[in-house]
Amino acid sequence: MAVDCLTALQHRGTESSGLVGTVGQPTNHFNIVKGHGLVRDVYNEEIISNLKDSIAIVGHNRYSTAGMKGAINCVQPFVLYTARGNIAVAHNGELVNASRTREKIMRSGVGLSTDTDSELIGQFISKTIAQNLKCQNDKKELGNITQELAATMSAIELSYCLVVMTYDRIYAIRDPYGNRPLSIGCVYGAEKKEGDSPLAYVVASETCAFPTGTKFHCEVEAGELVEIKRSGIRSVWQMMAKAKSFCIFEYVYFARADSYFEGQQVHSVREECGRILAKESYVEADIVSTVPESAMAASLGYAQQSGITYEPVLYRNAYVGRSFIQPNAEMRQNAVTRKFGVLRANVVDKRIVLIDDSIVRGNTMRIIVKMLKDQGAKQVHLRIASPPLKHPCYMGINIASKDELIAAKLSEDEICTFLGADSVKYLTLEGLQRAVDAGNKSENKGHCVACLTGNYPVDISF
Ligand code: SF4
Repeated sequence: MAVDCLTALQHRGTESSGLVGTVGQPTNHFNIVKGHGLVRDVYNEEIISNLKDSIAIVGHNRYSTAGMKGAINCVQPFVLYTARGNIAVAHNGELVNASRTREKIMRSGVGLSTDTDSELIGQFISKTIAQNLKCQNDKKELGNITQELAATMSAIELSYCLVVMTYDRIYAIRDPYGNRPLSIGCVYGAEKKEGDSPLAYVVASETCAFPTGTKFHCEVEAGELVEIKRSGIRSVWQMMAKAKSFCIFEYVYFARADSYFEGQQVHSVREECGRILAKESYVEADIVSTVPESAMAASLGYAQQSGITYEPVLYRNAYVGRSFIQPNAEMRQNAVTRKFGVLRANVVDKRIVLIDDSIVRGNTMRIIVKMLKDQGAKQVHLRIASPPLKHPCYMGINIASKDELIAAKLSEDEICTFLGADSVKYLTLEGLQRAVDAGNKSENKGHCVACLTGNYPVDISF
């Protein structure tokens, strides 16, 4: 089940994958499986058998926004031997105050073996466990590290979702701004009857990872610490609320279309972005099309609203990875040229409205526009289902530095010329916010839009 969950979340990271399981006792024994590459490359039947009899498993797919690339000790989950037994830590996000926290940890005598934020968080928890043992005659259960996790949450600020495992329980944690997503599901058997307890709980960044038969339980609230034990699940601590800043880019690009956040499916939000984009920036054309896959929903929305027929114009090679999360520029560039082929019969002499979810550097789009025109397209009008990306992300999405972002350097007309398109229009920020708020059922609403506006949820001058 854990491997299936990681497979469903492969789009969130392709560099490496890891699973750590506990069998309950002893407190200092975890089974660990880790490797570089895709989930399907890391695990096989024999390796998975190392995890049999686990009562709890923590897993992680990595794509690095900070920290060394390629080193096996950077592969998560991190396992630490602490004064309260082992802990395993899986982290999604990037700490904006990492350098200050790193300095603090190292000055306290703790050496770090990697430069990842995730190890830093693990070491902070471990150090707090040791401090608490020294200053109290501690009688609490061995695997209970609620207090230490609460202290860690107060110290590391943003951005993190964590799953932390001790020998007999799992904690699910979300930062006080709710910047990254985290959901919990209850797994039931096929014979489920009214009032049955779940067979298992699943905690995942996205609901698309939930196995068949899983009932959605909740999203972990911003600043909430949830404990899951054999005896059940409970919220054990809630930090003082901060202005909610859930990453709007999860809706725009990053998440899988069939995932749910804030009570609404990502696909529906993207469709609404397309509809609003068509109202804001209609253009006469023969067909609407898309750069597959994440802009598919937005292009369908644009087609519905504009009344222009949708036709595919690009074939996407499914065996080439996502260019956006390749770790360097050269790898991204190669990935694009291997990734797309033109469906010529749909393109010749056509005025095409081509929808994409975002433009980062513009290099991918420039190649695509040229490919379409070389194959006979009469006009290519680009419509982008998000506002211009003008600022870097310091919270866990590997966008690019400001120097690399095309919209930070060029006007809309200049971008159009650079890309070789006939026109370029972006969705407005108001339009994006309207699309995201249309079906939002969360009681605590608020989104980070810092890469679009430059207004970060916290001071980033650390
Ligand atoms: S800056 Fe952009 S990508 Fe980063 S968390 Fe905010 S909305 Fe998401």
